[in-house]
Amino acid sequence: MTSILNADLHCHSVVSDGTLTPEALAQRAHAHGVELWSLTDHDEIGGQARAAAAAKSHGMRYLTGVEISVTFLNKTVHIVGLGFDADNATLRQGLLQTRGGRGQRAKEMAQDLARVGIHGAYEGALKFAGNPELISRTHFARHLVEAGVCKETNEVFRKYLTEGKPGFVEHRWAQLKDAVQWITGAGGMAVVAHPARYGFTANEEFALFTEFKGHGGQGVEVVTGSHTTAEYVVYADVAKEYGLAGSRGSDFHSPLESHTELGTLPYLPGNLTPVWEVLSSRIQ
Ligand code: AMP
Ligand code: MN
Ligand code: MN
Ligand code: MN
Repeated sequence: MTSILNADLHCHSVVSDGTLTPEALAQRAHAHGVELWSLTDHDEIGGQARAAAAAKSHGMRYLTGVEISVTFLNKTVHIVGLGFDADNATLRQGLLQTRGGRGQRAKEMAQDLARVGIHGAYEGALKFAGNPELISRTHFARHLVEAGVCKETNEVFRKYLTEGKPGFVEHRWAQLKDAVQWITGAGGMAVVAHPARYGFTANEEFALFTEFKGHGGQGVEVVTGSHTTAEYVVYADVAKEYGLAGSRGSDFHSPLESHTELGTLPYLPGNLTPVWEVLSSRIQ
């Protein structure tokens, strides 16, 4: 399969921190010309059957998807899984365990925010969480915007929800090795999500890709809503250097918040092996 394909292999629904249902996302992806789609909710695959059925109803091809939160070198790294068997028990158990800490973390975030005079943030965030098990910083951000503390979610992240800020709570997510093995063990492909976002040094990034490959990881997001045009080039080179397939995805969360629409990014560079070529037998 060619790299000239409107594949969007990264987005979020109400099952995690998106604002649209899997069905509304499928419709929107189709309306923007997406030919191959994947819903990649954070740490949760509860939306997969609905997404696959909705894709089929629009004549779009589909790959199962998830975005797993991992702690690597004391930073949160996201690993996208594509084309796995969504019934795999080890993967399901691993995801259950990964999202398990979110409730406690949210309560601690709210306690931190209360110390700077922002009260009731846990209850407020919970109202925005379509799936309470997946309560995330995004839901806090939406609540604080609604409460008038900030004008937009980006501002909430900048002032309250990132390292060193009053609502940030350290959290240990899954281990890189485990996340990669849950995905590959379920017949899927592990893909490093938006690598430019982590702020790793060259040595740290070398460690990430070397260990990721060592555990059986096979792909990297090159064209993503989180990368600049210059970063597409940087990570196309990284893909070639490490022998990884390239992926493409908007990371769309919401019509109001997301700056990148489904299916509208440039095509994957033609000199890369697309993840959908490696995963062709897993496409539904
Ligand atoms: P969590 O998994 O609860 O730590 O939340 C992470 C999510 O927060 C990411 O998946 C993004 O959707 C969102 N996010 C992270 N940083 C920002 C930011 N600067 N502005 C808006 N949303 C962000
Ligand atoms: Mn998110
Ligand atoms: Mn991510
Ligand atoms: Mn994402």
